[in-house]
Amino acid sequence: MTTAFVTGISGQDGTILAAALAADGIEVHGLVRSADEEAQQRTVLPAGVVLHLGELTDRARVGELVDSVRPDEIYNLAGISSVAYSWEHPTVTGEVSGLAAVGVFEAAWSLQERTGRAVRVLQASSAEIFGRPDRTPQDEGTTVRPISPYGAAKAYAHQMAGIFRGRGLHVATTILYNHESPLRPTTFVTRKITAAAARIAHEGGGTLSLGSTAVRRDWGWAPDYVDAMTRALRHTTADDFVVATGVTHTVAEFVETAMRHAGVADWEAHVETDEGLVRPADAAEQIGDATKAHEVLGWRPTVTFDELVGRMVDHDLAIVRGVA
Ligand code: NAP
Repeated sequence: MTTAFVTGISGQDGTILAAALAADGIEVHGLVRSADEEAQQRTVLPAGVVLHLGELTDRARVGELVDSVRPDEIYNLAGISSVAYSWEHPTVTGEVSGLAAVGVFEAAWSLQERTGRAVRVLQASSAEIFGRPDRTPQDEGTTVRPISPYGAAKAYAHQMAGIFRGRGLHVATTILYNHESPLRPTTFVTRKITAAAARIAHEGGGTLSLGSTAVRRDWGWAPDYVDAMTRALRHTTADDFVVATGVTHTVAEFVETAMRHAGVADWEAHVETDEGLVRPADAAEQIGDATKAHEVLGWRPTVTFDELVGRMVDHDLAIVRGVA
């Protein structure tokens, strides 16, 4: 039986991945940070998923867990996933999303060296490694030139994945563009928008405060991106793969689509700009070229932008109506 070890199992992607792996008959182990979280995850994750307490930055603990679980597949999804948070906490971001990822590669490499059994690793890289990209759309050959603490931490882990690959470890990376689902916390702009659209529709009024609404992003459906991760990890050759839809929308378009879906007609009347929410540096547009993932992995996104926004709004409408 295949055994998988998932860091970040309590996050959006980790939750979706754990369910998909368990449904495939894989023995799933995951890393969680606290006993409270462990108890909470037990109600969310499929029965049989084994949770282990530990901090990703605790290299000894990560090494000990990898040695005892002896996974065939490791998915390193844990990390600081918010660019906004990374500006407030650049050191923690570097430690968790940069250095600790290398601890995971080291643990996998050392298990492989000692047992002679191949260990495959998937590193969740990010479009933020491209910063203000020198080409549009971006692909695997685009210059890595981050402009945020989050992007810099992810860039370090991404480049170290390549270095461990050269050393004989099967480390694949997925360079993920923004991907969403109802599991996104409301601290992220997409879920903040869909939760506000549902609230405004339900209460018949209210406002939504946002930073720049002109920013353009390439948004996809999280389960599709998790599917790309397993395809990348299991491909014969470990490599880097951009995972994106190739279609961009502005934050304003996201708001308009969400409000329309919720039944709010005059959406602009409900949106106010908060300069405090504008980031120190932000790429005006990110758009990915996933041709390599299409051709090599047979991967394609299955959910359109309108469907994605609609699914998130429906979920938030069910919450405000007390039927979720
Ligand atoms: P998420 O929902 O924020 O999940 C992050 C996970 O990391 C959580 O389980 C969190 O645990 C865990 N974590 C954070 N710090 C940790 C630490 N010190 N030790 C152990 N665990 C720790 O993120 P996501 O959206 O699922 O994203 C998964 C990965 O893909 C992340 O690495 C993210 O950077 C990357 N990515 C995501 C996107 C996207 O659009 N979603 C785009 C590009 C790249 P707690 O629950 O305890 O906080």
